[in-house]
Amino acid sequence: MVITKVVMILSLWENNEVAELNLYKCKKCGWEIEAPSEGADILMDGGIAYFICNNCKNAFCRTFEFGNEDELDMSCPKCKSQDITGWKPEVICPKCGGELEDLGISCLVD
Ligand SMILES: [Zn+2]
Ligand SMILES: [Zn+2]
Repeated sequence: MVITKVVMILSLWENNEVAELNLYKCKKCGWEIEAPSEGADILMDGGIAYFICNNCKNAFCRTFEFGNEDELDMSCPKCKSQDITGWKPEVICPKCGGELEDLGISCLVD
């Protein structure tokens, strides 16, 4: 269900929506993430939020529709752990604890 939604929203982005993703890179280990500068983004009828799994350090995003936020799947797609943190640029690197460097907008989809 959730994966279908993500694919749907991503194709929406490609066709209609403008999405600005910034590239953040760890100064120590080179871990990278492409994400909106706020850690979440608003789409036409919903939003997309970025998370980091505290268990396996996997970064992933989830989309949701307004009014259906409760249905958001709050578990890691990789290890199924529910120990996750909302990702924001000021969060340190989940792999090594290093500082993240904002490399600016890496892609602009319109
Ligand atoms: Zn790092
Ligand atoms: Zn995980």
